[in-house]
Order: sequence, then C-alpha cells, then structure tokens
Amino acid sequence: MTRVFSGIQPSGVPTLGNYLGAIRNWVPMQDTHESIFCVVDLHAITVWQDPKELARQTREMAAALIACGLDPKRCTLFLQSHVHAHTRLAWIFNCVARLGWLNRMTQFKDKAGKDREAASSGLYVYPNLMAADILTYHATQVPVGDDQRQHLELANDIAQKFNHDYEVDFFPKIEPLIQGVAARVMSLRDGTKKMSKSDPSDQSRINLTDDHDAIAQKIRKARTDAEPLPGHASGLENRPEARNLVGILAAITGTLPENVLREHEGKGFGAFKEVLVAALVAHLDPIRKEMSRLLDDPTTLDAQLRLGADRAEAIAAPICARAEEIVGFLPRR
Ligand code: ATP
Ligand code: MG
Repeated sequence: MTRVFSGIQPSGVPTLGNYLGAIRNWVPMQDTHESIFCVVDLHAITVWQDPKELARQTREMAAALIACGLDPKRCTLFLQSHVHAHTRLAWIFNCVARLGWLNRMTQFKDKAGKDREAASSGLYVYPNLMAADILTYHATQVPVGDDQRQHLELANDIAQKFNHDYEVDFFPKIEPLIQGVAARVMSLRDGTKKMSKSDPSDQSRINLTDDHDAIAQKIRKARTDAEPLPGHASGLENRPEARNLVGILAAITGTLPENVLREHEGKGFGAFKEVLVAALVAHLDPIRKEMSRLLDDPTTLDAQLRLGADRAEAIAAPICARAEEIVGFLPRR
C-alpha cells in the first residue's frame, strides 16, 4: 500500500481552507493508503506562539482532525514533537538544502513580511523540516493544498541531492496530491490572499469552531462586488472574491463551480450568501459539535496521540537511523 503523509500546524483554529484544501481529502485515504497524519507543532513555533495557547490549540487541532473523520485506529495520528526523527533528519537536510533554494520560497516571503531580518531562522528552514517530515517515513504521496506545492518541489530537490551526494538510492520521489475545486480557499476580506488560520483578522476566515451566527455574520460581511452572478465561469474573471464564494459553495456541496453558476445565474450576492451560509452550517455544525465532545475528554485524546506517536516512531526511527549511517555518523553502541 502506498504511504501518504500530511501535516497541519496547530497555529490557530482549523479553517474552512484547511478543511477543503487538506483535511477533507485525507479522510478517504485511510481506506486506500497507509496514512500518517501529524499535528506539526514544531512548524507552528516558527512564528511566535504563546505556550499555553499552543498546548490548547494542539489538542484542539487533534480533536478537529478526528471530528472531520480521521480515525486513530485506521490511520497514524500524532504530534510532530513526540517523534524525534523529524528534527534529526531535518538537521541533515539543513546541510543538504542550498540557501539559493530557500531564498525562492514564497511562503517565507509572505510570512516574514517587510521586516525579513526579524523573522526566525526556523521560518527560513521550515521547508527542510517539512521535507524531513515526509521523507523520514519514505512517504511518496502528500495530500496538501495548492499553497504547499513549492515546498514539495523543494523536498524532492533535497531527496535528489542527498541521493546524489551520498551515492545512494535511499529517498523516494514525492508526489503532491493537490485535489478538488477548492485547493486554495481565499480570504473573505481579500480574494487575492489565501485564507489562513494565522491571519490576524478573524473576519478573513471561517473556523471549524464557528457556529451558525458567526458563519452568517462573516459570510454576510465577506467582500464581494456589485455585479450579479454570471452564468459561466468566464464571468468570474478578475472577480476574485466572487470566484472564491462560488468555489466554496461548489466544494462544500460536492459539485463544480459551473453547476453552482448555472443554478444561481443572475442572483445578487445578498441572496447567494444566504444559500452559502445554510450550506456551510449544515456541513460544519456536526464537526463543531463532535470537536467539543472530544475536547471534553482530553485523557482519551492524549492516549490516542501517544499510541499514534508509538506507531509513527516505529516507522520513522529506523529510516532516520539509516540516513545518519549514510552520512557517516557512528551509531551509539
Ligand atoms: P498558517 O497560517 O499558520 O500557515 P494555514 O491555514 O496556512 O496556517 P497550514 O497548517 O499551514 O494551515 O496548512 C495545513 C494544510 O492546509 C496544508 O495542506 C495547506 O496546503 C492547507 N491549506 C492551508 N490554507 C489553505 C487554503 N486557504 N486553501 C486550501 N488549502 C489550504
Ligand atoms: Mg500555512
């Protein structure tokens, strides 16, 4: 069975973007692939996280994943900091990846903002850790949103350079699995920016913890234009906000944007937004309620994560140890 790996940062409450672009696509893979899913807390601290909040958000993220349909019995679900192979291999990759490669990463530029000198060095080498996350499992398929495509290309460059420099055929090629109409959900306030759980504006996103009132308020306030809905996708050109809302309704109702447009052609956004609110609430409310039920019992949740870490470590530790041996590190005897 092909092995898949994917991760999500506990850097905030999971959003509709995370759900449609990533988590939702992970669920069916549990039956078709050997699936490894990770809450990547090491990645989260590349930008400042309040320690108490980080701990809370980490549990919340694990609960969200289970509430969305990941079953700790059918997949390996764990916390990144519990399995040390990730950081050990990441160090080796820090020494394989070239500065020139990292300099091209757009996520670093977006997240570092204007004051690049003040960004953490962790944020800069983030893609090397991500490569280690995947490759310490020899995973070959990685379901992610479109925003992570560039990082996966870099991971392949690292794997290739490692194999080449050490004259081995050790790390496999990684294939990104970028799926669905909503591989990139955009901010509700700015249709040219992706929706992010770490965006300072809560109005820019739908959180999986938002109830009916919060969803209704955010969608009603979401930026749009004054034009009615066109009958065809060509009518959405240069209308990023309109395109985003149509894409969200299509994704959440399991159809294509063309079908949404056919059904709602000529409608104004006032009426369209009410349809969208109803669809979002119907889909997200059961997830929100299940999350809150799981969070009421942190002992069970922590035990599930411990088992996940044991299973993950059993795969990752020998692969990482072999990489260290290839590099020339003496084993501890
Ligand atoms: P942060 O702002 O802290 O980076 P994030 O919302 O970007 O948070 P990540 O933890 O970085 O979330 O990414 C988790 C997964 O969600 C990745 O597979 C990523 O591609 C996907 N993802 C994130 N944002 C979106 C989005 N707006 N649309 C579709 N997929 C997304
Ligand atoms: Mg991100």
